[in-house]
Amino acid sequence: MAAKLRLYNTLTRSKDDFVPIDPENVRLYVCGPTVYDYAHIGNARPIIVFDLLFRLLRHVYGKQAVTYVRNITDVDDKINARAARDCPGMPHNEAIRVVTGKTEEQFHADIRALGVLMPEDVNEADQPPRFVEPRATEHIDEMRMIIERLIARGAAYVAEEHVLFSVSAMQNLSGVPKYGAFSKRSLDELLSGARVDVAPYKRDAMDFVLWKPSGPQDPAWASPAGIQTPGRPGWHIECSAMAWRHLVQAFETRLTCADPNAREIFDIHGGGIDLVFPHHENEIAQSCCAFETPRMANVWMHNGFLQVEGEKMSKSLGNFFTINELLQDWPGEVLRFNMLRTHYRQPIDWTVKGLEESEKTLDRWYELAGRGETAFVSDHIVDALSDDLNTPKMLAELHALDGQSAHEELGANLRALGFLLEGAEAWKARKQSALNVDAAQVQALIAARKEARASKNWPESDRIRDELAALNVVVKDNKDGTTTWEVAR
Ligand code: AMP
Ligand code: ZN
Repeated sequence: MAAKLRLYNTLTRSKDDFVPIDPENVRLYVCGPTVYDYAHIGNARPIIVFDLLFRLLRHVYGKQAVTYVRNITDVDDKINARAARDCPGMPHNEAIRVVTGKTEEQFHADIRALGVLMPEDVNEADQPPRFVEPRATEHIDEMRMIIERLIARGAAYVAEEHVLFSVSAMQNLSGVPKYGAFSKRSLDELLSGARVDVAPYKRDAMDFVLWKPSGPQDPAWASPAGIQTPGRPGWHIECSAMAWRHLVQAFETRLTCADPNAREIFDIHGGGIDLVFPHHENEIAQSCCAFETPRMANVWMHNGFLQVEGEKMSKSLGNFFTINELLQDWPGEVLRFNMLRTHYRQPIDWTVKGLEESEKTLDRWYELAGRGETAFVSDHIVDALSDDLNTPKMLAELHALDGQSAHEELGANLRALGFLLEGAEAWKARKQSALNVDAAQVQALIAARKEARASKNWPESDRIRDELAALNVVVKDNKDGTTTWEVAR
């Protein structure tokens, strides 16, 4: 019998036993990407971490008992700016659809390579969907409904065609949490943070936008609250609306929950640690005030940040990597494995050395494990994961199986974890073909170097040697006049 599931909860700041509201309908929401550009390797962290949680919950509660919602944010001012830049002259709505469509497709291809379950992998034709990937633009009605409810309760107001959430009004409502309680910020602190550049239509510096009027370059929908000018939603309201639609309203007739106050509450809400404030604080404010609940979700989980070779990842430092770029150098499973070597709440230092070690381990396990069933067959593995997704411990348990020559067991667990999705032969062939692509380039460089040497152009020959070195290729000039090479990995 495996141990009880325990999860660290940002709401209580402690690791607690997980008690689902309805064990037959465990409900999980994770804030997904804003689709305006390639996702970077930091964005892959919540995707992989919550994919793992989804897999574990399906194992513990049953495949039909878990619903996972991971949204796509396809309305955002960054998207508008990108559409104007990339598609000049195109009608603006069309340009926005081009940007979001292309980015979403790329995102799916990237994360599929990371061994992440997709809706089509888990949804069955005759069952309610268990994995929903809603788009914000398809939930404008729900956003307007929540905004109208907030206005009716006095928690939001209209000013200069905007709708704003009123933080001070929330403090006077009963049955809802206090604003700031979730992120543990006092109003004084929040106020001093918010005082920079306050929009003139705000009654209070801390108030945040639920809806704003659209200019000619912005996507626009009919506004709520009798506002004549068409407008668009703020970011935070999108998640409140999508979570409500797919985890509350969709379960209205299915939920057997003992506590009637829990009707509008779901089980787990996740995202990166940077979302605690303001995004999750504001989601909670909106949902709790609209539905008069003490909580939006029972458990809040946040992954730590990813940094690269000990430094913050940023474009200006030149250490910014998209998932797509990394997939050109490493199999997706190596990226996935490397991500899981660090506990999800710790910061992770993403290094080439770590990737090399990850690849070495997977090379070995591909050889050993062979093909076979896909299931969490070892209590030790499930126990490690049940302890707040303790993946370093889980990997130690996998190494122990390897050491005991329990290779069938090793393989079954690895497949359940999203690894070894192909046989060892296919793995080797794929790695080889990645090298072959390089091979053509390497051969061309070697030929150019030979030519440079023949014409005694030493600087050019040195430059080419450096270029080869940068590709991690070691060149050897043999006594018989031939040149051979190998990849130094
Ligand atoms: P964004 O598109 O910036 O809203 O981010 C999408 C998701 O990726 C959010 O859950 C963020 O918290 C998460 N995220 C962004 N950057 C990083 C990072 N460097 N490390 C870990 N998670 C990140
Ligand atoms: Zn969100």
